[in-house]
Amino acid sequence: MNLWPIIAPAALAAAGAGLASWGAMGPSAQLFGPTLRRTGSDKTLALTFDDGPNPAITPRLLDLLEQHHVRATFFLIGRFVRACPDLVREVAARGHRIGNHTDTHPNLIWLSRARIREELVRCQESIAEVLGSAPLWMRPPYGYRGPHLDAVVHQQGITNVVMWSVIVGDWKPQPAARLIARLRSVRGSDMVVLHDGDHRALGGDRQRTLTALEHWLPRWLDAGLEFVTVDAIAGGASQAQHPPRGNRRN
Ligand SMILES: [Zn+2]
Repeated sequence: MNLWPIIAPAALAAAGAGLASWGAMGPSAQLFGPTLRRTGSDKTLALTFDDGPNPAITPRLLDLLEQHHVRATFFLIGRFVRACPDLVREVAARGHRIGNHTDTHPNLIWLSRARIREELVRCQESIAEVLGSAPLWMRPPYGYRGPHLDAVVHQQGITNVVMWSVIVGDWKPQPAARLIARLRSVRGSDMVVLHDGDHRALGGDRQRTLTALEHWLPRWLDAGLEFVTVDAIAGGASQAQHPPRGNRRN
């Protein structure tokens, strides 16, 4: 069924008000297919990083995560993957999961099915060329999904569209202290989206995001939260990335 003729007038009519179209496209909307946006357990937290890889920030972010034994999910832009293949290998080698964030970071909502397919395929192929396999997860740029996305996603063997429950605008220039304050709202079961890259160009400054994480990572761990990656969520609710030891039969 093609929903677009029904949705488009409503979305256009809502463009002034904004809220109704946000209802259809926003992170919690399920109109264009199911998405992952929480971990499923209030004992766990999922950190996700978009718009990389970014040689100016990603290596230091990897060190910071490793220092705290935290694993995360990185949604990469295809053209940056081709520019920095070694960094992509490093992200995977450190135990993080990798997802598709399109090839050039367009707003998918107004693109044809063919153009969406091209954006996803080029990113899938670029990641597969570096890592030997293509991702099973994708996140649409700006969180915008249209009626074509789900079908294209499944054609590519991608199992989940991944959104978020917490977004703090870390891409906007601001003092790190403000980001730290905004992240105070994070609770167990949240999926947090942060940015190690800038979709416009390699080398974007995301120092404030690192500083905010330096503040919060030890505090979240002290609060007893465990960090999960998207595969653990997609694979069935609320497992942590390291399954509990012992008590395992056969
Ligand atoms: Zn993005």
